[in-house]
Parts: sequence; structure tokens; C-alpha cells
Amino acid sequence: MALNLLVLGPPGAGKGTQAERFARSRGIPKISTGDILREAVQTGTEIGRRAKAIMDRGELVGDDVMIGIVKERLDRDDAGSGFVLDGFPRTVAQAEALEAIMAGRDPLIVVDITVPEEQLVRRLASRMICESCGSNAPAGGTDARCGRCGGRMIQRADDTEDVVLERLKVYHRQSEPLVAYYRSRPTYRSIDGAQTPDRVAADLVAAIAAVGNGGRS
Ligand SMILES: [Zn+2]
Repeated sequence: MALNLLVLGPPGAGKGTQAERFARSRGIPKISTGDILREAVQTGTEIGRRAKAIMDRGELVGDDVMIGIVKERLDRDDAGSGFVLDGFPRTVAQAEALEAIMAGRDPLIVVDITVPEEQLVRRLASRMICESCGSNAPAGGTDARCGRCGGRMIQRADDTEDVVLERLKVYHRQSEPLVAYYRSRPTYRSIDGAQTPDRVAADLVAAIAAVGNGGRS
């Protein structure tokens, strides 16, 4: 059975890191829209060329193109035994489109990583990123140096407290209907993201196992 996972969570909840870690542990692809958009543009698929034309005009890629790109990605062989979706869907319209794409596949497991607002603000406002590679994971690095490339860690320009609060407001406005869309399903779980990354990872695995047990626990 394929392990089809969607990870939800606000900026600062550690969603991307957890999604990547889980995907690696299961040998399935982590699919984020930013990555696949870049890839579709690079490989020059038809939909990738459409996306590039839109972005070259300085416009945002709309739902229809985004959905097409996600479908193209999920149809690839390496997603046959499962995938971890990160950052898509963002809206109920996209969730409904994903539902159509998922028809005939194993069920979508949805795990929502929640973190109290004041903790998110604290985390985001103090987040550092690497000046060279943009990585925000200090994994293996020190406070001053990037764990991936050794570059200098600097404060993110857009992470002042006002900007953080605005980003969170936008997130909640978009995600509340999305969570409401998924919450009543037996394959939905919410986990506590206000723990160490290791504990969150363990809870993620446990939530998925519980869903696999037919939704008990
Ligand atoms: Zn770096």
C-alpha cells in the first residue's frame, strides 16, 4: 500500500524539515510546489513552459497550472509507493482538485502540525538563514555557520515581528477552511509541533501508524 501523506502546518512549525525527514526515512519523494515548479520549468514540460510564461510576466501561477504540475509530478513512477506533499494544497479549491487527482489511489493521510501562535512568532522572528545557500536548518552547524555549506548565518530580512504576524494571519485565513475540509476524515491527525524535532518526528510516525490501523487511537 502506498503511503500518501500531506503535511499541514504554519510557517515556523518545522513542517518542511519533518516532511523531508519522513520522506527520506521511507524512501519516497517529498513534493513541494516550489521545487516541482522549478523542476517543471527546467525540464520544459508543456505545463512548465506555461508556468514560466506566467512568471516571466511577473504574475503568480494560478490554481489550474499549479494543479496540473502537481498531477504531473504525482503520476511519475517514483511517487508510486507514496509521497509527502508539503505546501500543496493551500486552498480548499486546490484540495478538491487534489481529491480528483487521488481518485483510484491509496487514501491521503493528513497530518497537521500545530504550534501555539506566540511560540511561532518567537521562532520565526529569531530564524536565521544561510547567506550562501538559503538553508535555515542549523543541522550539524553552529549558530554562526551553516550545517550544509559552512556559509554565514544571517537574520532573514522578512522575519521582523510585524511581517511574521502578517504571514501568520494570512496562513490562518487560508488554512482554517483547509483544516475544516480534512478534519472529519478518519485519515486526519493533528500533532503537537511545540516539542523537540525528534519528538515531533516520532509523533508523526505514530499518527501515520494509527491511521494505518484503520483509524483507531
Ligand atoms: Zn549554507
